[in-house]
Parts: sequence; C-alpha cells; structure tokens
Amino acid sequence: GGAELLRAASRAVDQAKREGRNRSVAYHPGLDPRAAERLALVQELHRALEEGQFELEYQLKFNIERAPTGMEALVRWRHPTRGLLGPGEFMEACEESGLVVPLGSRVLDEAARRWRELDAHGLGHLRIAVNASALQVREALVEEVAAVIDRHGLPPGALELELTESVLLANPESATGIMKALCGLGASIAIDDFGTGYSSLAYLQHLPLQRLKLDQSFVRGLDSGADGQAICHAIIGMAQALGLGTTAEGVETRDQHEWLRARGCQEFQGYLLARPMSFEEILAHLA
Ligand code: C2E
Ligand code: MG
Ligand code: MG
Repeated sequence: GGAELLRAASRAVDQAKREGRNRSVAYHPGLDPRAAERLALVQELHRALEEGQFELEYQLKFNIERAPTGMEALVRWRHPTRGLLGPGEFMEACEESGLVVPLGSRVLDEAARRWRELDAHGLGHLRIAVNASALQVREALVEEVAAVIDRHGLPPGALELELTESVLLANPESATGIMKALCGLGASIAIDDFGTGYSSLAYLQHLPLQRLKLDQSFVRGLDSGADGQAICHAIIGMAQALGLGTTAEGVETRDQHEWLRARGCQEFQGYLLARPMSFEEILAHLA
C-alpha cells in the first residue's frame, strides 16, 4: 500500500543522499578563467532566489482535436539588468551549485498554486507539469510532492513531473523507488526529451510512467525525410506497445503536426500551437 511505497522511497532517498554527499563542485578560480565568472553567476543566482526574481511561464499542450490538455511550467529569471532570461542562461549553474533544489521547490509550489487557480476558473481538467532535474530526484522529492499536493489540495492526475532519461539512468534503483512513490501520491510521470538518452526498453517497461515526450530534435528531423520519420514512427509505436502516451515537443509546422497526428501521437506542444506565456496570458488564451 501507500505506506509501503513511502518507506521504500524514503530508503531510496537516504541512499541517494549518501551517494550524493561528496559530489559538490569545487571551484579553482586560479586554474580556470571561466570559473570566476561562474562563481559570480552562482552568487547572483543565490540573490535572485532570495529576492524572488524567478518566475514561471506556461506552455499549453493539446490533444489530437486541438483541445488543451495541460501546460508545462518553464522557469525564467527576471534579471535586474539583462531582462527575462531562459533556463539556457542559468540552469547549468543552478544544477552545478545545487541551487536547483531550492529553486525546484519554489517552482513546484508555484505551479501547484496555479493549478488551484485554474480549477477556480473551471479549468481543473488541465494537468500542470513541472520539470525536475536529476539532483532534485535524489533529494527528498517525495515528501515535498506529498506536502505540495496536500497544501494545495491537488487531485490525482493534476500534477505531472517531467524527468529526463539521465535521471533514471544515474541511479536506476533509487529512481524507480521514487517514481513509484510519486505515482502513489497521484502525480503522473513523463519522460522528457525522450530518445536522447540511452534507457533500454526492458527498463522502461517496469517503470510507473504515463508518457514519453518525443524530443524536439526528432520532431525537427521529420523535415529531413525518411530517416527522421522512421525514428518518430518507431518511438510512437513503441510507446503505444508499452501502453504509454506520447507528447511531441517543439512542433513548429503544420506538416510536422499533421504527420504526427496521422501516426497516432496523442499530444502536441510547440510554437505552432502556443508559445510559453505568463499565467495571466494563459487564462486570457483559454477564456
Ligand atoms: P524542456 O522541458 O524540454 O522544455 C521545452 C523547451 O522547448 C522550452 O525551452 C520551450 O520554451 C521550448 N519550446 C517549446 N516549443 C518549442 C518550439 O516549437 N520550438 C522550439 N525551438 N522550442 C520550443 P526553455 O523554456 O528554454 O527550457 C529549456 C529547458 O530548461 C527545459 O526543456 C527544461 O529541461 C529546463 N527547465 C525549464 N524550467 C525548468 C524548471 O523549472 N526546473 C528544471 N529543473 N528545469 C527546467
Ligand atoms: Mg519539460
Ligand atoms: Mg524537452
């Protein structure tokens, strides 16, 4: 039952903590000229977290009928002088410094709070998805998700976690325990950027997953002909065989959208359908 799952997950978390303890990154400014810059960025990120400079944009996902099914929360940094920055500018530094853990907690809480607001607008059928990086999955994510679900009263299926294959492969045993516990709490799990890692099918089969997100590089590859199409076709077919849903990421053209729809892909996300936007814009868009 649920208690059993929680115990297994907490053992997995403890083990992950023991293994992660000695992994902090050391900086040697004298040795690497870029390290001083990185250190300054990390200090700036600490301040940004304290001062609430991070915010979330949301990108809608749509089903085959073009009805919205949910949205993905994407973090941005409202930098005091450089404007609104995307994760490409700071996520690596957040991961190396461990800041991604407290940042991830904020993201999770904020996204759950927004789901409440969606529900209040009669949009409670939409899922809200949050990205979690490997470091977060090693930490006490299960207790945190349990607390957030409780705090905001989220029903089963409302919250989705997007994990990359690297999360699963870094420590398969503890990742499996954590995923089982998360599912037990009513969160669903999608594998992000699917196809770019090296997870084996045999392994995927035994994980509590709901969805594979077809990486945008494969969607882009559809334009270049038969080989690119074969990969997408194979991934969609495999997902179907395993009873998993598929979400295509980075759908930018009508041709890509049509091709994927015709091959049984179930969900679509990309600039063609909706760009990431503020929560207020999302509400206006859905009204
Ligand atoms: P991701 O989870 O794979 O998110 C999809 C990325 O593709 C987002 O970039 C989104 O803005 C972008 N995108 C969406 N549609 C299209 C399209 O049609 N064409 C193209 N070219 N791009 C599209 P973004 O917002 O820059 O995020 C990049 C990555 O940063 C995310 O990739 C995710 O791995 C990470 N990330 C974002 N937010 C968080 C967060 O809160 N926590 C963690 N740990 N990682 C995050
Ligand atoms: Mg994602
Ligand atoms: Mg992705």
